[in-house]
Amino acid sequence: MFWDQEIETLPRPELEQLQLKRLRKTVRKVASETVFYRQKFAETGFKPSAIKSLADLRRLPFTTSADLRANYPDGLLIKGGHDLIRLHTSSGTTGKPKALFFSRKDIDQAAENIARCLTMTGLGKQDILQNMMTYGLFTGALMVHYGAEKLGLMVIPSGPGNSEKQLLLMQDFRTTAIHLTPSYALYFADFIEKRGVDPRKDLALRKAYIGAEPYTEETRRKIEAALGVEVYNCYGLSEMNGPGVAFECDAKQGMHVWEDNYLMEIIDPQTGEPVPDGQTGELVLTSLCREAMPILRYRTRDITAIIPGPCPCGRTHRRLQRITGRSDDMLIVRGANVYPQQIERILMSIPGLGRNYLICLEGLDEMIVKVELSDASFDGQVEHLVKLQSQITEKLRAEILVRPKVELVMPGSLPASEGKAKRVIDKRIL
Ligand code: ADP
Ligand code: ZN
Repeated sequence: MFWDQEIETLPRPELEQLQLKRLRKTVRKVASETVFYRQKFAETGFKPSAIKSLADLRRLPFTTSADLRANYPDGLLIKGGHDLIRLHTSSGTTGKPKALFFSRKDIDQAAENIARCLTMTGLGKQDILQNMMTYGLFTGALMVHYGAEKLGLMVIPSGPGNSEKQLLLMQDFRTTAIHLTPSYALYFADFIEKRGVDPRKDLALRKAYIGAEPYTEETRRKIEAALGVEVYNCYGLSEMNGPGVAFECDAKQGMHVWEDNYLMEIIDPQTGEPVPDGQTGELVLTSLCREAMPILRYRTRDITAIIPGPCPCGRTHRRLQRITGRSDDMLIVRGANVYPQQIERILMSIPGLGRNYLICLEGLDEMIVKVELSDASFDGQVEHLVKLQSQITEKLRAEILVRPKVELVMPGSLPASEGKAKRVIDKRIL
């Protein structure tokens, strides 16, 4: 099913022509109407007239999150010519936040993208979407809310948390779709299991839109099995209008990037040079339709790859692989490069384990992986636990090349997360 079949299936040459037209317009505009790009172009000697084809994108300087912070709050804002109707900030980890302004057209565009995304997964007017993401400065909940309203389905703006109430809403109003983080989905799956709720019999859920943080294919399968839903991966970032930048279609083989709105590149994060399709690197995005605050060649730090070739669904917009983490998520433990997602993949594939885990780095360079047991597997037999523990240690060592200390903990004893989960605690004295 299509929301806008013409644009979603636009032949590549026409799509690329449209991209070039929009890119040139954006570049001219930021050069004359923002403080930041005027300066940046002057410093780097870039001239807007240098963009003659899409390949010339490489001549443009990158924009980084440090640039956004250094030019806080409005250095990247286009002066005048539009109504500013919204401000979001993105927390990040250090120092000042990033301020992101939206015009009416920007909010409409974000809603339009989400309407495309939801329709593509088979959602329609008859559906009821319980939006279990955080409402507020975070773009995740609000943009999906607007997109779903645009599509004309009923939205329950429940926000995250209060699982008791979430369940009641789901039961009383026959919610068919939910939107939430993977960590809250895992927590909620535990919650209903403890209540003895059988989602296939007692609930009307069909689909779950899961994003805002990285998760693995194994986690997807766990959520699908536990909640009786089809899980669709959704990706976005506040700098690019929030969610709906890339979304899975029914084929569930990667996320389509709406290329009439965004230009994507994958670069080697060390050299900044482009890598060929299919090869992993850092995603760089350029907004083509943002009115209030266009951002060029934004280094997302998200690690992914472009999937070569057409998708069975017929859309011409290219797809991204599941994001495996941020380039700055990488941990260096005893000289080895370790991504938290590698650990998650192993933990989620071992039967007998629960759905919550925590990676602690301590002392000189010690890694401790704490993982909850599942309720069912906890039979009190010490030798079973010892065996499970050494099995996990071995599998982790084979994957990450470091032998962690594994601690099995009681179900429900690790901190539960409703928003973005904190999976790593680094207290090393290095
Ligand atoms: P903040 O930067 O404050 O966390 P954002 O909403 O802008 O707020 O977060 C965007 C980031 O969230 C992305 O750059 C990416 O790292 C992560 N993210 C969002 N969706 C996904 C997803 N489906 N898979 C993996 N990571 C995701
Ligand atoms: Zn597709």
